[in-house]
Amino acid sequence: MQLFSGIAASPGIALGKLRVVDRRLSVVSEYPIAYNAVASEIERLVRAVEETRVELETLRSRLAETNGEENLLFIEIHQMILADERLVIETTESIRGALINAEGALRRTLLRYREKFARINDPYLSERITDVEMVIERVLLRMAGKTVAPLPDWEEQIIIAAHDFSPADLLQIDRTNVLAIITEIGGQTSHTAILARALDLPAVMGVEGICDFLYDGAVVVVDGVTGAVVVHPDQQTFQAALRRKQQHECEENELLKTAPLPAVTRDGHAMQLRGNVEIPEEGASILRYGGGGVGLYRTEMLFMNRSVMPDEETQFQVYRSMQLAVAPHMLTVRTLDAGGDKLLEGLDHAVEVNPALGMRAIRLSLSMPEEFKKQLRAILRVSSTGPVRIMFPMISGLAELRRAKQLLEESKQELAATGISFDPQVPVGVMIEIPSAVILADLLAREVDFFSVGTNDLIQYTLAIDRSNEQLSHMYHPLHPAVLRSLRRIVQAAHGAGIPACLCGEMAGDPQCLPVLLGLGFDELSMGAGSLLRVKQMLRRCSRERAAVIAEGCFGFSTAADVETYLTAHFNEVTATGDEQ
Ligand code: PEP
Ligand code: MG
Repeated sequence: MQLFSGIAASPGIALGKLRVVDRRLSVVSEYPIAYNAVASEIERLVRAVEETRVELETLRSRLAETNGEENLLFIEIHQMILADERLVIETTESIRGALINAEGALRRTLLRYREKFARINDPYLSERITDVEMVIERVLLRMAGKTVAPLPDWEEQIIIAAHDFSPADLLQIDRTNVLAIITEIGGQTSHTAILARALDLPAVMGVEGICDFLYDGAVVVVDGVTGAVVVHPDQQTFQAALRRKQQHECEENELLKTAPLPAVTRDGHAMQLRGNVEIPEEGASILRYGGGGVGLYRTEMLFMNRSVMPDEETQFQVYRSMQLAVAPHMLTVRTLDAGGDKLLEGLDHAVEVNPALGMRAIRLSLSMPEEFKKQLRAILRVSSTGPVRIMFPMISGLAELRRAKQLLEESKQELAATGISFDPQVPVGVMIEIPSAVILADLLAREVDFFSVGTNDLIQYTLAIDRSNEQLSHMYHPLHPAVLRSLRRIVQAAHGAGIPACLCGEMAGDPQCLPVLLGLGFDELSMGAGSLLRVKQMLRRCSRERAAVIAEGCFGFSTAADVETYLTAHFNEVTATGDEQ
C-alpha cells in the first residue's frame, strides 16, 4: 500500500484502476549554438508559436461546438498568454544573448515566469503559472514536431493521473469512464480544479511524483474530500473507502435535492444566497447548487497575464459569457480590484513599501480614468441584457465614491452618444472593507443602492492582521467583538437608508457564522459555490427571531474567545435539525 497526500481540489471519492498519461516532453535540452544559427533558431521559435496559435484556435472552435461558449474562457486565456509578445521577445533575447537553442531559451523564459509568479502572495493568481506552463509546453511540443495528443477513449472505468491536465483535456474526456483525476501540479484555484468542480469530477492535485512510479494499472483510491491517494490499498482500506464513497454520495445527493428549495428560515424569513466567481466556467455550479446568481464577480482574472489592458469589447464579451452562465439571475460585477499583491503586467505599478495600503482597487482605477471607463462601459453594456449590479472595491470615503459615480455617469453618456443601450438605473454598490467606510457607513448608504461587506479585508484592516500571514491566522477572527460591532453598524446604516446589506467575504460561506449574520440582519450572503448548499441547510434550520436575540447577546462579551464560547452554548437555541420549513 502506498499513500500520497495532495490538495483536495474537487470533492468526491473514487476507487478504480489507475492510468498514468504522461504526455510531457521527457527532456528539454539546452545546447550552445553558433552565431550564424541564431536566425534559424528564432525562426523555429516564431513558427512554433504561430502553429500553436492555429492549434488553439482550432481547439477553441471544436470545443465551442460540443461544450458551448461559456466554458471556453480558459482557452482564450491561453491564447492571450501566447499572444503576449514578451514571450517571444524575451526568448529571442536569450537565444541571441546566451547563444543557445530555442527550446533551451524558452525553458529559461518559463523559469523566469515561475519565479515571478511564485512571488505573488495571492494563491489564485500565483497558480496562473500553470496556464503559462501549458502554453509553453504546447510550443515546445511543436518545436519537437509533435502536438498535445488528445486523451484516448478508455473502454473501462478508470482514474487518470498526469503531470497536469489542461481544462481542454477535461472538457474532452468521456465522463462515463473517467472516475477521477490526479495531477502532480496545480491546486485549489487552478482552472483545471475549477472546471473539475464544475463537472463534478473528483480530483486530487499536487501529488508530487505520482507519474514517476510504475503504477499504470494499479488499483487506487482517490479522496477528493481529504486529498488522500492510496495506491494498492489493502482489503480493509479498500472496503473503508467504498463505505466512505457511498456515504459521501448519499449525503451529497440528499443535499443536492435541497438546491431548488427556497433560502428561508424556519420562521419564514428569506435571505438571498449568491455565489462568488472569477471566471464564467464557475457560473453553472452556482446555479446547480441553488444560488440566486452572482454576488461577487472578481474581474481581476481578465486583466492578468496580458501585456496590455483588455479593451472594452474583450471585457464585454467575457462579462456577457458570465451573464449567460447565470441567466436569468443577478450578476454583481466588482470593478477591478488590482494592486496590492495582485499586480498586472499591463500596468506600470510603482514599487511600494506597503502595498496593502497602497495604490490598489478603486484608487488604482481612479488613477487611470480612461481604463476605468472602458470597464464601466463594458459592464453597462451587459446591463441591457440581464440584471446587473456594479460594485466598487475598497471605498474609503465619499470623495472616492462620488468620483467613481461621476466616471460611471460619463461612461453612460458616452454609450448613449453612440446609441448603445444599457440600464440607466443600474444599481451601484460599495464594498465595505475599510474601517473608515464602516465609520462613514451612514453617509455612504445615502449615495448607493447596496452595501457588500468584504470581511476578508475588513477583518485584516480592523485587526491589523495580514489576511495571508499564516503565523497570525489564529488572531484573524471573524467573531472578534470589533468585527461584530462593525458588522452591526454596517447593517444598521444600510437599513437606515433603506438599502440591502450583503456580505461576500469568506465568512459568508461558513455555516457556523450563519446564525450570527442572520441575527444581525444581513439580507444577502455571497460565497463559493461549494458552500451554498450547507449554508442554506443551516439557514433553513434557523429561527430568525432567535438568531436576532442570540446575535445581540454576542455584544455582551469582550473577546473573540468569549463570543465563541457563548455562541457554541446557544447554537441549539437558534437551529433545529430535521424540522426545517
Ligand atoms: C473581501 O475582502 O472580503 C472580498 C470579498 O474581496 P477579496 O477577497 O477579493 O479581497
Ligand atoms: Mg477585498
